[in-house]
Amino acid sequence: MSLIITDECINCDVCEPECPNEAIVMGEEHYVIRQGRCTECVGVHDEPQCRRLCPIEGCIVVNAARGETRAQLERKAARLKLGRGLDELIARRGENL
Ligand code: SF4
Ligand code: SF4
Repeated sequence: MSLIITDECINCDVCEPECPNEAIVMGEEHYVIRQGRCTECVGVHDEPQCRRLCPIEGCIVVNAARGETRAQLERKAARLKLGRGLDELIARRGENL
């Protein structure tokens, strides 16, 4: 399941740069997690980095409404990795034009 950031967030900026999927962005009042990009860090870290680093207890919690299995999270991670690879390829080709 992907994670969500609650109203407990104090916008300390710790989690945002640590997300391997660029899933954490500033929302209207505090940071939020883009659900389509959160993989619980599968394949990169042993545990969700944002939740490990967040200084506020209970600030980052599982989104129980989004019942993703480990296999689904792994597929999401693979899709995001493929997207990053394509972006890099396009950027490199652009440099060579
Ligand atoms: S669990 Fe991992 S992928 Fe999801 S938002 Fe936190 S750091 Fe990013
Ligand atoms: S680490 Fe926690 S308190 Fe800090 S910005 Fe991220 S969610 Fe908010």
